[in-house]
Amino acid sequence: MNFISDIDKKDISDISKIQSELLRETVAYLCKNSPFYREKIKAPPDIKSIEDIKKLPITAKEELQKDNWAFLCVEKDRLAEIVATTGITGSHVFIGLTKKDLDRLAENEKRCFSYADVTPQDLFLLSVTMDNLFIAGMAYYSGLQRLGAAVVRIGPHSPKKQIELIQTLHPTGIVAVPSFLTAVYKQAEKDGVRLEKSSLKKAVLIGESIRNPDFSSNTLGKMVEKFNTIECFSTYGITEAQLAFCECRHHKGLHSHPDLVYAEILDDAGNAVKDGEIGELVVTTLQMEGMPLLRYRTGDITFKITDRCDCGRASARLGPVIGRKAQKLKVKGTTVYPKAIENALLEVEGVENYVIEAYTGDDQADHIIVKIGAHNGNAALENAICENIRAKVRFTPNIQIMLPQEIEKIQYAGGRRKPMTFVDRRQKNSV
Ligand SMILES: [Zn+2]
Repeated sequence: MNFISDIDKKDISDISKIQSELLRETVAYLCKNSPFYREKIKAPPDIKSIEDIKKLPITAKEELQKDNWAFLCVEKDRLAEIVATTGITGSHVFIGLTKKDLDRLAENEKRCFSYADVTPQDLFLLSVTMDNLFIAGMAYYSGLQRLGAAVVRIGPHSPKKQIELIQTLHPTGIVAVPSFLTAVYKQAEKDGVRLEKSSLKKAVLIGESIRNPDFSSNTLGKMVEKFNTIECFSTYGITEAQLAFCECRHHKGLHSHPDLVYAEILDDAGNAVKDGEIGELVVTTLQMEGMPLLRYRTGDITFKITDRCDCGRASARLGPVIGRKAQKLKVKGTTVYPKAIENALLEVEGVENYVIEAYTGDDQADHIIVKIGAHNGNAALENAICENIRAKVRFTPNIQIMLPQEIEKIQYAGGRRKPMTFVDRRQKNSV
């Protein structure tokens, strides 16, 4: 089967039929070509409809890391590109793409941009990394190219340089990580440049969520949406599945591409939850050649919406990522993800940096200490933090105010390149 660009305009039942066919195709392909899945699926089940996906085994990230190249379905010399993501233990998990996979990637991203109403007349600053084995920059680049838009590959460098290019080249859009875009805004403010009056009209944002589960903007979202002349579109990507999901102009969830992926939301026992209910996102790649994945656990907690969107598309949509499954905490009977606490902290004036630490108490339950970096730590700041966290997650954690440089030491412990904001010190078998 070929890519079906207008698949999301079809009836939901027709989409389901196409997905059933593609799943049958994928399973047959894997049983023939994948050393890993040949071993895992000894007797392929009868797949009559896409619902039969539940008869197939789940794939864990640990398996992909351990048997990395056993997932490869083609001879190595047929690969066109190798990218990587970070595995459970911090080492690389490699993903090999064939020419056809690069084509699928470009098609996927082209559709993402079209959901954001990007046209061939647009000029985009690509302010994300193109190298270092990252897939995202390359993916967005090829999507814009396929759409016919023009690209300026600046990368995530120097907010000053970004502003200079906005003033000289007059781009209409930018692809960036939200926190980097806020750094560009801050620099513009410092330099007296009014970005709201510039040519920039759209921001396609990757890597961090800007929405709450009800699709209102979270703290980061409010920071990037400070100008109503720049419309922000949230996206969510999975390197291993060579996929991204993107919001349309209604901003009510991230659209999937039904001929390229089938998304499930599963509970802790591995059963599908009802639409709208929260669980772990599990994806099956469709029409992939190099390293297709069957029911791959992403570790991300979200929900699925399957009714037709106001934009007219019938593709399933995902909610924003609420947190990482492995970081789920149970504090005083309440389920909470560190991300929700981070959102609360971002709103408090005077908090310069932070680390959230979880540990197992003598009662064998999860406990949290929120370590705050602030130059002017006092009781008023502590109160503001407590109140904001209580309002968002309904409990009051222990707060410890320290100097920002002390927090930095924890964030970059062990020579990390990126700051760590959550430290999990829980005993493995805690409840
Ligand atoms: Zn839509």
